[in-house]
Amino acid sequence: MQLQTKKIQKVILEWFDKNGRKNLPWQKARTPYRVWVSEIMLQQTQVTTVIPYFERFIKKFPDVKSLANAPEDEVLELWAGLGYYARARNLHKTAKIIQQEYKGTFPNDLLLLQELPGIGRSTAGAIFSLGMNQPAAILDGNVKRVFTRLHAIDGYPNASKTLKQLWQIAEDYLPNERAADYTQAMMDLGALLCTPTQPNCKSCPVQKYCLAHAQDKTTDYPTPKPTKSLPVRSSHFLILVNNQQEILLEKRPPAGIWGGLWSLPECGSNLSSPHEAKRDAEFSSISKNVLKTWCRKNYACEIDS
Ligand code: SF4
Repeated sequence: MQLQTKKIQKVILEWFDKNGRKNLPWQKARTPYRVWVSEIMLQQTQVTTVIPYFERFIKKFPDVKSLANAPEDEVLELWAGLGYYARARNLHKTAKIIQQEYKGTFPNDLLLLQELPGIGRSTAGAIFSLGMNQPAAILDGNVKRVFTRLHAIDGYPNASKTLKQLWQIAEDYLPNERAADYTQAMMDLGALLCTPTQPNCKSCPVQKYCLAHAQDKTTDYPTPKPTKSLPVRSSHFLILVNNQQEILLEKRPPAGIWGGLWSLPECGSNLSSPHEAKRDAEFSSISKNVLKTWCRKNYACEIDS
């Protein structure tokens, strides 16, 4: 196993030298801060979508200090459209902690990194390896896919037993040198070759070691998430327009869907008519507002906390 592990590390790094991505915006002038911002943006989001957001964000907040000192609304404004807004709120909280408790410098300690809001084990590993060039395993979606195929690992990758197994494999493959390049190589292998539906095994540097390929079962891995229907919520949103044609917006509570964003006032799911919009002091106090219309919206919601 030891010898094979070394061979696999070697071929992955050689492949990266020739074919890896080296010009993504967060790879230029690489710092833990830039790696962190990019990693948080890349969670659940495609690289091509993230690039313009990253560039705008870094232009406005080039370092921890500028982000820590910004009002939350400005941070959320630059995030608008990326979704999963808890990521932006955690980014802001973490910047404040790093500024106040670590004098603006990321702690050079994997466990301390994982204590910061929004930074899990894989993101901490990415900051440590890509941002500080120190060996640390990562296990994002791309890397999980590569390892589940390479080792033909059964079980949904986020199930605790499978996850434990995958972390062990990820740790076993860590090289002692070129930590940043190795991490980037694993991400690139998953993103460029070992893609979800049509892996390009012909060009893959680990093809001869890959158990899923040997069994001709590449797309059987990773095991899909067990299906679970998302809860559907029905709610009412009011469009309140005053004499100046201004529309009332409310800031939503920090937790939950669209947390901390400005939105049309939501008034629950039990309204039977628009007149019920006067249901509480908040709306009745808006004496000049005229209820023009109301809308009903159904949406499937993921928990965003
Ligand atoms: Fe993925 Fe194919 Fe490479 Fe195996 S051989 S790791 S399935 S691209």
